[in-house]
Amino acid sequence: MPSSDIVVIGSGIGGLCCGALLARYGYSVTLCESHTIPGGAAHGFQRQGFTFDSGPSLYSGMSYRPSTNPLRHVLDAIDETVDWVNYDTWGVYIPEGQFDTTVGADQFVDVLRTLRGDAAVQEWRRLQAVMAPLGRGATALPPAALRWDWGVLQTIAPYAWTLLRNGPALAQASAPFSQILERTVSDRFIRDWMNLLCFLLSGLPATGTSTAEMAFMFAEWYRPGVTLDYPIGGSAALVNALVRGLKKYGGTLRLGAHVEQVLVTDQRATGVVLRSGETLQANKAVISNASIWDTLPLIPDAALPKAFLEERQATPQCESFMHLHLGIDGTDLPPDLACHAIVVNDWDTPITAPQNLVVMSIPTVLDPSLAPLGKHTIHVYTPGNEPYDLWQGLDRQGAAYQALKAERAACMWQALERVIPDIRQRVEVELTGTPLTHERFLRRQRGTYGPGLPPQQGLLPGPKTPLKGLLCTGDSTFPGIGLPAVAASGLITANTLASVRQHQQMLQQAL
Ligand SMILES: Cc1cc2nc3c(=O)[nH]c(=O)nc-3n(C[C@H](O)[C@H](O)[C@H](O)COP(=O)(O)OP(=O)(O)OC[C@H]3O[C@@H](n4cnc5c(N)ncnc54)[C@H](O)[C@@H]3O)c2cc1C
Repeated sequence: MPSSDIVVIGSGIGGLCCGALLARYGYSVTLCESHTIPGGAAHGFQRQGFTFDSGPSLYSGMSYRPSTNPLRHVLDAIDETVDWVNYDTWGVYIPEGQFDTTVGADQFVDVLRTLRGDAAVQEWRRLQAVMAPLGRGATALPPAALRWDWGVLQTIAPYAWTLLRNGPALAQASAPFSQILERTVSDRFIRDWMNLLCFLLSGLPATGTSTAEMAFMFAEWYRPGVTLDYPIGGSAALVNALVRGLKKYGGTLRLGAHVEQVLVTDQRATGVVLRSGETLQANKAVISNASIWDTLPLIPDAALPKAFLEERQATPQCESFMHLHLGIDGTDLPPDLACHAIVVNDWDTPITAPQNLVVMSIPTVLDPSLAPLGKHTIHVYTPGNEPYDLWQGLDRQGAAYQALKAERAACMWQALERVIPDIRQRVEVELTGTPLTHERFLRRQRGTYGPGLPPQQGLLPGPKTPLKGLLCTGDSTFPGIGLPAVAASGLITANTLASVRQHQQMLQQAL
């Protein structure tokens, strides 16, 4: 039976970060991915010469050092690089009108003055002042220093003084960001805008987003001179760098290797059984990067305590996505198209409501190599707000499914027509994805964006489980959804299996 120290289930960014780091720590690692393409929600794919991102395209803190982004720390720890192109502007289409906004200290103030006047600007300045110490608190401790055992006292010791100094800010970290907003801001537009950013970051509005998460975003996006990053080659370039890192340290990636069951021997996870029937032995640990709802069914009955099963199964779930992937003719399009744009149809409807918020990305604006000469690649999606229930049980080949697809995709076409009015005449490749597509290609139950746990209900659990030898990583574990967060989770899980000395050496290299 093939054997390695560690078997990782899933090659999402969480699983890849964790697997590559464990290989770097000297473990033999086998990573089993169900799909034939690695990367999970961040995988890239090709159709007729167009390269598409299946998911993320918004990155920051990746192209420079020192950075606060744990994903950058992973790349540095495994000594891998990605080429990044920088930009700072995104298009905004909201009920108040259309404008471009940039990350950085000042431009949003100009937008605010035009839309809402000086009183709103003063409130914004006040919010920035409140968030500044919170931002220092949120970035005081790099997640790379964390591990889920008592060794953490040694690995965070170098940050003890910074942590103490930022104690008051850290005390507010887990409060919902809505509390800060209510205390500081009365302007309706700033509140709506913050609610929108919360939803984009966490999949929940300000009432469900932690102050720490928003403080991190403020520290990153609203500081002078900041730029956003996009990986040359698309999200696949990032995935490839992590795969290179895994293999460079001796790890193995098995694609099309769906794990059917976790093997349990003497109350310990000892390997996995693949759908093909093959068994892989794990001498040290099995780590699941699959979502918690996709992990639990892999564990034999009675191997986990009932209370744990029920609690984790009941983790609140974000909704799913509609996707539109297009390859278009770019003839005579304006040269200053923004790579990213968002459309909010109505502020009076909750930002979480289906079809209210649409996100667009045209990465070929930054990296023309993603499409044939003169063409563009486009990804439009409704982020984490498409109800799975609407789609459940539909036959993907049936007429009802096709009709619903056309109906539910209409809001994405309308949003895109605001950016490229004659978009429909330009289309050369058209792929519409639904929650069923999302569920199928990302192997995520109900095509969910991930856990929607509001901070009032506590933090997501760490990597350990009650079953010896079984750990988890990815967006179902602390800290949650998003590339920086799942990279942090990959770091924490891998560090927990490393010695304190190995961990400290890694920190020296990565930070
Ligand atoms: C459309 C979209 C846009 C996004 N935009 C951004 C963005 O701009 N910036 C940002 O930071 N974040 C963004 N996110 C969020 C981010 O992409 C995710 O939070 C993150 O990629 C999740 O990574 P993960 O490793 O936790 O899980 P996943 O990516 O879901 O990986 C889990 C892996 O496990 C595999 N798997 C599951 N079950 C099995 C099994 N039984 N056997 C073998 N393999 C299995 C799956 O195939 C998958 O590859 C976006 C997400 C989406 C969907």
